[in-house]
Amino acid sequence: MNRRLRIDVGKRAGVTSGLLGVLCVLAEFCFLFPDLLVTRDALPFYKANLAVFKGILWATIAMTFLTGLISLALMRSKVHGTLGIVLGTIAVLMRFTDSVETGPATVSAGLDYFVLELLVLGLVFIPLERMFKLREQKIFRKGWQTDLKHFFVSHAGIQVLSFATLLPANAFFAWAIDANFQKVVAAQPVWLQFLEILLVSDLVSYWVHRAFHQVPWLWNFHAIHHSSQEMDWLAGSRIHIVDALVTRSASFVPIFILGFSQAALVAYVAFVSVHAVYIHSNTRWRFPVLRWLIATPEFHHWHHTSDEEGIDKNFAVFMPVWDKLFGTAHMPAHWPKKYGTVKFQPPESYLGQLAYPFRRKRATPYG
Ligand SMILES: [Zn+2]
Ligand SMILES: [Zn+2]
Repeated sequence: MNRRLRIDVGKRAGVTSGLLGVLCVLAEFCFLFPDLLVTRDALPFYKANLAVFKGILWATIAMTFLTGLISLALMRSKVHGTLGIVLGTIAVLMRFTDSVETGPATVSAGLDYFVLELLVLGLVFIPLERMFKLREQKIFRKGWQTDLKHFFVSHAGIQVLSFATLLPANAFFAWAIDANFQKVVAAQPVWLQFLEILLVSDLVSYWVHRAFHQVPWLWNFHAIHHSSQEMDWLAGSRIHIVDALVTRSASFVPIFILGFSQAALVAYVAFVSVHAVYIHSNTRWRFPVLRWLIATPEFHHWHHTSDEEGIDKNFAVFMPVWDKLFGTAHMPAHWPKKYGTVKFQPPESYLGQLAYPFRRKRATPYG
């Protein structure tokens, strides 16, 4: 193995080991304090499949050691490899500590959700982006730490966020509910309901999204999502909390009024969590007909471009048909050249991004 390749592999193995080690220790905390740190609704599921989740944890600990050792063998700098191995050892030691039962808490963190999603999405999308990359860019590109913090808040805070998302519909639209009509809606086949959810929630989110672009003070919130200059699976997590809450609660209103079945809602939530990651990913696949039926990276990358031709285009999240209908669709034969905001670049730090909309005195379009 030549020297450059050795350093490259060693470095990647070391960083992977360190990150996996952190995930293992966080997972151990979930096992230790399940009532406080684990999503309450998911607890019975974990308990019923305890052996599976313990198996995943052991496999991840083994990967932490393996990548740590590879890094130690290949690199002169022992920092990352050692860190991974130390974290892996801590995780093993924590395995032998009994869990602390504190009784059901009113609000629990979704640390389990953060750890599992990061592990699964990372294992799927990082190799996918290496194999089918659209652009040559680093896994740990500029801003990844900030995006990871956004990812952490939206996942660990899932219980509070979901509650806040459902609140406005319950508070303001309960009058619009017709039990008989809801029965008819919920009696349809699940796949049909699933498509209807995508269609109606996307119609609302199209206009909310468009407002976030065209009303200057709203843009200051949404500019955070557009501030990434490189697109990848993690870049989509960069969303101001106000932006996420307003968009999600508004798109939940038609779902709430129409009253779809539980199974269709679960399918929708599962689909959204992967689809949102996929459309930001650094992958080059294009789908000849499908690209006009469902949003793909090609469609959403054009939304994120700072190239003149793509500004304020492709507002739909799922169904490009809304952009076609309202005259904002843009999907030429080539890919966009660059991404990001046009005039002002929001700060790079997580807290700076949270404060950004409240700090800016002079609102400008494309801020
Ligand atoms: Zn946007
Ligand atoms: Zn986006």
